[in-house]
Amino acid sequence: MAAETDDMKHNLKFAFANATHSLCFTNEWFSNAVKLLPFRIKRSNATVGGDGAMFSRAFCDTELHNVEYLFGDIFQHGISLVTKYLTQETLPDDKTDRLLLRKLLDIKKEGKSINLDPQKLTETELAVLLANHLFGKLATYNNYVIDKSFGRKGDEQCVCDDKSCKMTGHYGDTSVGNIEVWHGNLDIIINNDLSMEHLETPVSRSEEMSPAEVKVKSEALSGTAQIISKAIVFSFLQKQTHPVRKHFLTPCIGVGNASLIVMFYDSEHDVIFESSPIPLFQTRGVNKYEFDDVAILVAWLSVNHKFLCSGLTEEMKKFKCGFFKEVKEKLKVYEDNLQLGNIASFVPVPIFQKRSLQWSSFIEETENDLIGIIHREKKKLKLSEEKDLTK
Ligand SMILES: [Zn+2]
Repeated sequence: MAAETDDMKHNLKFAFANATHSLCFTNEWFSNAVKLLPFRIKRSNATVGGDGAMFSRAFCDTELHNVEYLFGDIFQHGISLVTKYLTQETLPDDKTDRLLLRKLLDIKKEGKSINLDPQKLTETELAVLLANHLFGKLATYNNYVIDKSFGRKGDEQCVCDDKSCKMTGHYGDTSVGNIEVWHGNLDIIINNDLSMEHLETPVSRSEEMSPAEVKVKSEALSGTAQIISKAIVFSFLQKQTHPVRKHFLTPCIGVGNASLIVMFYDSEHDVIFESSPIPLFQTRGVNKYEFDDVAILVAWLSVNHKFLCSGLTEEMKKFKCGFFKEVKEKLKVYEDNLQLGNIASFVPVPIFQKRSLQWSSFIEETENDLIGIIHREKKKLKLSEEKDLTK
């Protein structure tokens, strides 16, 4: 029995070390790496008032900068928390850090599978499932609001097949913005900290694809102006409502076709990134799915970004997206007059070019530590397997 719990412990550590490593390392053979691609906004309808500037009619012409970063570099606090735990095996002394880390470990220990094919859900249903089963569970408070137009007010039943699974959030008013600029309803707002949106265009990284195809697919931006406009408005809103925060780099989750992307906008430094797509599920037999380890880690970092995100590095601040310039005199509306609640497609052609990958010394040191942990846990797992065989 003791050996079994030991195995579980090593499996858990091995899984988290590998997932964390995916956010801190990449090379051409390692396609699981999660990268951040900064881009520029060339033209948009962000200053057109009235109906023209609803999120659903947002227009945005973008162009990639020629650099890319690793996801872990903007979550240095979160990555350190996990790496320290994997090294020392003790929970941190700080109360918030301990609560956050427990949330992450518990969801993996629970290992609850979802007994339905996520491909059969619509993108909005998938977003609701994620809010209830993943993001809500990983957040410090399990509370979210779903756009009331998705229907079923008063309905507490989850979209999964488990009849006893109740929603921990509710349907309500999710409108944000200002009618003078971009505005409209967000799909889901979690704890007032994170917005989650369905994507119109699929961002899947299918297994049949050759490595070259995977590369092309993951280099193309999800491209929907809707999620760009929502991420920008939500970041300005965060700055307006929490002006004393250390930074305003705010994530927005895009859900589509069994994978997710994270869009980040910094409304202080005018920098925007889109992450490469992250597969949501691992199959565990027929119609049995579990959340992918990397997706769990990315969801945990994003939903708790006010604690775990370290903001832009100095280097990243140079790659402006030009939104401030684009909206000119209307910038004041974005800065000061956005509301939460009560407010009454174009796909850009991706430009393929060589980008240089950049990272900080934090990533370099952490990556080294993680490799050490991965090797150690692998060895321990092998040893205990051999012990079982000789029994
Ligand atoms: Zn459920």
